[in-house]
Amino acid sequence: MNTYGRFPIALERGEGCRVWDTDGREYLDFVAGIATCTLGHAHPALVETVTKQIQKLHHVSNLYHIPEQEKLADWIVANSVADKAFFCNSGAEANEAAIKLARKYAYKVLHMTQDPVIITAKASFHGRTLATITATGQPKYQKDFSPLVSGFEYVPYNDIQAIEETLSKNPQTVAIMLEPLQGEGGVVPGEREYFLHIRKICDQTGILLILDEVQTGMGRTGKLWGYEHLGIEPDIFTSAKGLAGGIPIGAMMCKKSCDVFEPGNHASTFGGNPLACAAALTVAQTLEKENLLQNVQERGEQLRGKLQAIALKYPHLFTQVRGWGLINGMELKEDSSTTSLDIVKAAMEEGLLLVPAGPKVLRFLPPLIVSAPEVEAAVQILEKVLEKGRKSW
Ligand SMILES: *Cc1c(COP(=O)(O)O)cnc(C)c1O
Repeated sequence: MNTYGRFPIALERGEGCRVWDTDGREYLDFVAGIATCTLGHAHPALVETVTKQIQKLHHVSNLYHIPEQEKLADWIVANSVADKAFFCNSGAEANEAAIKLARKYAYKVLHMTQDPVIITAKASFHGRTLATITATGQPKYQKDFSPLVSGFEYVPYNDIQAIEETLSKNPQTVAIMLEPLQGEGGVVPGEREYFLHIRKICDQTGILLILDEVQTGMGRTGKLWGYEHLGIEPDIFTSAKGLAGGIPIGAMMCKKSCDVFEPGNHASTFGGNPLACAAALTVAQTLEKENLLQNVQERGEQLRGKLQAIALKYPHLFTQVRGWGLINGMELKEDSSTTSLDIVKAAMEEGLLLVPAGPKVLRFLPPLIVSAPEVEAAVQILEKVLEKGRKSW
């Protein structure tokens, strides 16, 4: 169906941070399936695990215990603030599970008699199902799909006063759902003071803090989870994209205090199958074995430093470079006629894959295994592209 505005290339092979198209052209991949290919392409550990697991057992129903799923849940619980995990297949589905859990919590624990409200942020992104486009505070994703799901209110991100006002107008609020750093909305990091304030409100009122870590989780930001940058703990958080390095998976985690689902409340046929969970476990083990969090921090600093130098060289084009670890954005001037898509297309022609985060932000999401020379090579391609475009941009 006509759902994607696709670029005119087809990718057929990858290795590490490089991919090749069907004409044999090579690209440096700073998209990584949109923050998904954590270990890059064809990582030997992931290849081995997936091959062995599919030869052994790839799928069984959640009617039975699944050892790989239990091991993955144990790893997440040992390496996050969560006590419990539910597995599904995508970010939207993980967020749907979080929304359902919060609603059940409203009735069961808070004994609400009115319909509960979940507050989300403007410019957020939470997925493409009906509930998650409703949670997504961007009208462009909601247009033509009404009626939307009821029970959502929106606030500007990083604005303490706005959340206070919205809370006082909505006493039936059960949860505040936010990204630790807004990804699709333009690579906007959450502010520590804002999140500390929200945590305090939640502690005082019993409202749940849900963090959507679908893009920020699994090491992308240089810490395992984005919330570690903010000095707070969520009650519920979700993961998907990078969790199994490109094998489809989603997960919704919560603390014991809001673990209110009972058998029959929620389910997913594919969710948590042996193949996806074995892949995620291998991603987890490889993060540890290859010390990738440190690589993400170092390569992130290297990349931001270089991008900042480029931004200074083209002050009529760029305003700001921002991000955490290996999720970084370069913002274009609002009044420039150049869009992020213009630069993405030109970079692709020169062998560098990038992705926009909205019309005015260029996004850099290399695999977490990216090396210093590869960061250098990507930056050189970008410089070449900007030099070539100097006259028209
Ligand atoms: C990509 C994304 C989603 C949606 O994930 P899907 O797997 O495409 O459903 C949700 N939230 C955030 C923050 C995302 O970046």
